[in-house]
This record gives sequence, structure tokens and C-alpha cells, in this order.
Amino acid sequence: MKKTVTFLICALLLFSCGRKEVTIEEQVLINKIQTPENLNIFYNSMTNLTVQVIYETGAEPYTGKTLRDKYYWQLLEDNLQSIFTSRNQTVALTVPKTLTEMTEIPSDQKTTWTAEEIVAKAEAVGNPKSETTHARFVILFLNGHFKNGEDVATNVIGLNVTGTTVIAIFKDVVKEMANLQGEQIAKFGEQSTLVHEMGHALGLVNNGVPLSSSHHDSEHGAHCTNPECVMYWQNEGGKDFMQFLQKIMQSGDTVLYGQECIDDFKKYKP
Ligand SMILES: [Zn+2]
Ligand SMILES: [Zn+2]
Repeated sequence: MKKTVTFLICALLLFSCGRKEVTIEEQVLINKIQTPENLNIFYNSMTNLTVQVIYETGAEPYTGKTLRDKYYWQLLEDNLQSIFTSRNQTVALTVPKTLTEMTEIPSDQKTTWTAEEIVAKAEAVGNPKSETTHARFVILFLNGHFKNGEDVATNVIGLNVTGTTVIAIFKDVVKEMANLQGEQIAKFGEQSTLVHEMGHALGLVNNGVPLSSSHHDSEHGAHCTNPECVMYWQNEGGKDFMQFLQKIMQSGDTVLYGQECIDDFKKYKP
């Protein structure tokens, strides 16, 4: 079946170093917004939410623990928990923390991935469909870069195929961040991107979950106007993003969604 999809560039983060400037941009594939069927599962009927991580050889996620002795992947779980806690919704979360809880697959040796190929890959590796009481998300860690139409987007870190529960991370771009900014920053950058993409998949901003206040930066897609929020889009260079990551690293405050976004979740009654 042929899927009709359009593209929207949704974040542009500039990283500069002494010799060259690298643009890391993140894009979302718009299948309009998250579907009513999925939203109804997420916010009405589910009692379980499972995140499955599948990685190509050579594109493994960062795992292990932070200096605070917490798993890096706890950051994603804490942020998901913050959403459902705000709603008084009881959901059992399953988020892998170690590589042994994730699935390695042989690399397809592809240098580029279109959105259709990403969705097809998720299906090929057996991404199960969500059930009424059990939402299932798949995060693919891939070698190579996102191909947007004719353009190879060498700076796209990750994306959520809108209207699906599929997320892709392009590990080559994360590795480049590590080369330029250090591995510690890149580890938090990877988690922060996951929290951002799960935010889109769960309906932020105005991406299925309606606004509870006017904080939608619609000029830049499904993003938040609050610069302190993980769903913020900013186009004036990477300084802010670096500061954002530094803050996460230093503060130990793990909820990256701003209050406006949390309030959207809190007040949403599908
Ligand atoms: Zn985004
Ligand atoms: Zn926000």
C-alpha cells in the first residue's frame, strides 16, 4: 500500500566548533498528526506501554549509567512517567536500560533511509501493533542518514514517523556530536532526542493532544514556545541546546517537558 507522506523540518540545532560548523537538524514526517486510534489507546485504554529498542550492528545506543549512578535510559522512562503521573493515569512502563534488553540486528549497510523504508524496517523486524490495553513503541537505531525526498539529511538525529509509534535514531549523527562535543554531551543529546521524539509520538505539540495554553510554535511545526522545554525549536545556533544539555547533566532534574506541555497531557480527555 502506498503511503502519502509529507515532510516538515522541525528543529535545527547548530553546533559549532573551531574548524567547522555542523548543523544537526531533526525532522518529523507528517502523516498529519497522531491518529485518534492511537491517542485513544494512549490516554484511555492502555495499562501498559512498552518501548522496544532495535539496533543495527555498529549503531548501538549509549547505555550504562550517569555520574549520578542512574541509567541513561532512565531519563526516557522518567519523562514518560511524568506524563502519566500528571494525568493520574496508571500505566506500567517497560523501557530497556541495558544493551542486553535491546535487540541487535545485522546492519543493512544502507547509507540512506527514507521514511517508508524506516516504517518497512520496523515491520520487518516484527514491531508488534499496539493493542487496546498495550501501547508498543519501537525505536530503531540505524547506520546511515535520513533521506528526505532527493536530499540526504546528514544532520538529522532522529524522527518520529507521525501517526505511528515508530522512531528512528541516526547514530552516525550522534557519533558526530560525540566527536565535536564529547561523548558525555552526546549521551544526553541522544536521550534528549528520544524524549523529544516520544513527545511527538504521544501527541506534542498540538500533534493530536490539543493545547491547554498558547504555547504552540506552529511556524516550526509541532513545537513548543518555551525555550526551557525539550519540545522547543530553536534556529539560532546550538548554544541553547548545549546549555539545555549541560543543565540536564548538572541539575539532575530529569523532567524535560516544560509545564505547558505537561499541562496539555494533564488536561487531555479524548
Ligand atoms: Zn521535533
Ligand atoms: Zn513545552
